[in-house]
Amino acid sequence: MSTKYVYFFGGGKAEGKVHMKDLLGGKGANLAEMSSIGVPVPPGFTISTEVCDYYYKNGKKKPATLDKEIDLNIKKLEKVFGAKFGDKDNPLLVSVRSGAAVSMPGMMDTVLNLGINDEAAAGLAKRTKNPRMVWDSYRRFINMFGDVCMGVDHHHFEEELTRIKQKHNKKLDTDLTADELQEVVEAYKNVYKKYVGKSFPENAREQLGYAVNAVLGSWNIPRAIKYRQINKMHGLKGTAVNVQAMVFGNMGESSGTGVAFTRNPADGTDEFYGEYLINAQGEDVVAGIRTPDPISTLKKRMPKIYKELDAIRLRLEKHYGDMQDVEFTIQEGKLFMLQTRNGKRTGLAAVKIAVDMVKEKRITEEQGLLRISGDQLNQLLFPIFDPKAKAAALKTDRSLAKGLPAGPGAASGLIVFTAEEAVKWVEKGQKVILVRKETSPEDVSGMWAAEAILTSTGGMTSHAAVVARGWGKCCVVGCGALDINAAKKTITVGNSVLKEGDEISIDGSTGEILRGYVETSASPVVNGIVEGNKAALKHPICQMFLEVMKWADKTRKINVRTNADSPQDSINARALGAEGIGLCRTEHMFFEGERIWAIREMILANDVQGREKALTKLLPFQRKDFEGIFKAMNGFPVTVRLLDPPLHEFLPHDVKGQTEMAKRLNITVEKVKAKVDSLHEFNPMLGHRGCRLSITYPEICRMQVTAIMEAACNAAKSGIKVFPEIMIPLIGTKAEYDMMAEIAHEVAKNVIQEKNIKVNYMVGTMMEIPRATLVADKVAENAEFFSFGTNDLTQMTFGYSRDDVGTFLPEYIEKRILNEDPFASIDQIGVGELVKIGIERGRSVRPKLKVGVCGEHGGDQESVKFFANVGCDYVSCSPYRVPIARLAAGQAAIVAKKTNQPKIKRAVNRSSLKKAKR
Ligand code: PEP
Ligand code: MG
Repeated sequence: MSTKYVYFFGGGKAEGKVHMKDLLGGKGANLAEMSSIGVPVPPGFTISTEVCDYYYKNGKKKPATLDKEIDLNIKKLEKVFGAKFGDKDNPLLVSVRSGAAVSMPGMMDTVLNLGINDEAAAGLAKRTKNPRMVWDSYRRFINMFGDVCMGVDHHHFEEELTRIKQKHNKKLDTDLTADELQEVVEAYKNVYKKYVGKSFPENAREQLGYAVNAVLGSWNIPRAIKYRQINKMHGLKGTAVNVQAMVFGNMGESSGTGVAFTRNPADGTDEFYGEYLINAQGEDVVAGIRTPDPISTLKKRMPKIYKELDAIRLRLEKHYGDMQDVEFTIQEGKLFMLQTRNGKRTGLAAVKIAVDMVKEKRITEEQGLLRISGDQLNQLLFPIFDPKAKAAALKTDRSLAKGLPAGPGAASGLIVFTAEEAVKWVEKGQKVILVRKETSPEDVSGMWAAEAILTSTGGMTSHAAVVARGWGKCCVVGCGALDINAAKKTITVGNSVLKEGDEISIDGSTGEILRGYVETSASPVVNGIVEGNKAALKHPICQMFLEVMKWADKTRKINVRTNADSPQDSINARALGAEGIGLCRTEHMFFEGERIWAIREMILANDVQGREKALTKLLPFQRKDFEGIFKAMNGFPVTVRLLDPPLHEFLPHDVKGQTEMAKRLNITVEKVKAKVDSLHEFNPMLGHRGCRLSITYPEICRMQVTAIMEAACNAAKSGIKVFPEIMIPLIGTKAEYDMMAEIAHEVAKNVIQEKNIKVNYMVGTMMEIPRATLVADKVAENAEFFSFGTNDLTQMTFGYSRDDVGTFLPEYIEKRILNEDPFASIDQIGVGELVKIGIERGRSVRPKLKVGVCGEHGGDQESVKFFANVGCDYVSCSPYRVPIARLAAGQAAIVAKKTNQPKIKRAVNRSSLKKAKR
């Protein structure tokens, strides 16, 4: 039997069902569903997405049996609708619309009023007694058909329309009479002939063939491809084609058309929300030529229709169990539904609708949780641009460029080019945006002072991105369109030049950069939960957020920790639900105040004694920070990583800085310069860093472990429950690990003995070099835990420098070499495979091996789901991404249960941690 390609709907029945979206597209599946539950839908048929798939796999040819199936379905349609395709007295007109499995609003092509020709128009005019509407529909059809199916530019038709309006002294299209519109039809046919090279096809079936081809062709037009890329829509078969009987909203005062949402899509309020136009076709509502009326006014104008529509709204929402976005047409007092789909909504609306629907017992908590995306939840945490202000800015062409959305939120400020300027300007009371090619640890104070950070190079795990996310600060990176000249203090973007002090606004959730100020609104969640403002805590948005987090925590099987390097970040992260620290990057503690001088002294020292002397100065600083962190994390584990970055990062590279350093350390500038030069490496990320530093200078490891363990013992003495985990970075061999672990254990035991208090500690390692994952069974003989550093693991597996991906990654994504940034979302089949191998091999020798992830992927929704499914005990991420990780972990557990995935062996029983003191 040949494949079935066409599915009929209408007359209270349908061959399709709502779950057949892959085959019928979202629109087709929903039309079928509405039809079969008795909602008034104009009848029609859907040509499946398999045809589109076939079309592109077979040199743009359709399956041989398709035409026959279409003919049979036209016959069915004629019968149900009571009109005939191509008939001169009672013609059936149809719309031909695209519709993929996932909605791509406005991206693909549509043809309306198909089936009309001279004879049919005359017949229809007689039947409807509305010749004006008929000739208006006819001229619109020729324009649309010429444009969409034959590529005739719309403006050629527009010119003719303007000419005829001028000739008859008419201002608006709607002022034209039936006769004048007939004249437009003739003129349009001439335009068609001139640009297509043959006459306009009068035969309805021939018209349909062209329209089906055009819709299939629109699947691969550049804007549709781009839309799928941006929205990460991969693996779809193609578009379906929906052929449906036309109903007319432009048949006079008892007709109309509109679009509506079953709840408010901006804030989630349970109200009928939408707009309509009397005596109009669908495109008029969207085109903005006439201003539509709010749906509430339809109640007075057409009470019967409103009642019917409102009943359908409630019915559809109940049937689908989610907020719907509907299109309807009223033809001479009769209501037709043309479309329903799950409505797009803001983050706030998504959370409110889920919480309300659970309260209304329409959906379960688990269903509610699955409805919310990480991005949507995130929108509740950060200031966002006021949607109206942003739309107005975009309308007036204030868009400058787009980079990678690295740190969430939105901010406006004056451009500054150096960290020092940022601090100075902020001290003077200005709000600034720090703009750099890239940032380095030396810029941290300026980055902190700025409202937001913008860089022209670097990717999602570059220094700027990681630091900004840790603070919950707005940040856009890798915006290659910006030509930054820090010396001249200018940014050139295309033809525009911006100077220091010019105001810009950046949207860290989308990567957009706009000229001038755009108003923002603050987050009550951060106000209440992080800053402890009692009134904000009672705010409905804050309450909704807490409710969703409660659902997530009930279901998830893995823990969520945070990456934090200071007591304050740790306190914030706890407030946002972090259950421990998965990564404390100790080097971040070295830049503040006096500390940088101690580390510089250590680097400059010629022998062990000199280094030890300098390190002794650092020890109290580190110990104090760790004490604060242990206190904030009372009852939860704290993983501290030993020094990781190459030493040159701590030295000044400019003459001014080197002179200051020479003065401070009482040595010559030449000596400073010579040291900087000697530390120069061609590939510092693959150079003398990580455990390699402490293998050369074991005194660094000794000092750090002493500080960690003294802080842990001191905290324990004051009644705090401490669980220190000492982590060795960047190992690639068992021998590296063993050498470092031996020192760590020796120092830790000594401190415990000296302090005379029992503290349970662990020593483990990061898994961030591919080789380490392959020899994980050897490493696990002595390592008590693994933490996957997926930033470096991605860098080294792909061989892409994480700080330079900005130079080629956008092109890779554009050219579909990669579907998405592997530094943002884990590459499941490559890097992810190494994670799986590492876990399996590690647990083969140490079944209770504790495993976590501390790369940036630990705060990415899809990656967290992956890590939860491969047996990780926890993920760790920046404080402000903890809620997303909790949500994703909850979702992963629900999906695993639903799809009967085999039970995963983990080392940590989450319920034991749940009992820990909060
Ligand atoms: C990593 O490599 O994933 C990691 C967490 O370490 P860092 O980002 O500090 O290199
Ligand atoms: Mg790393």
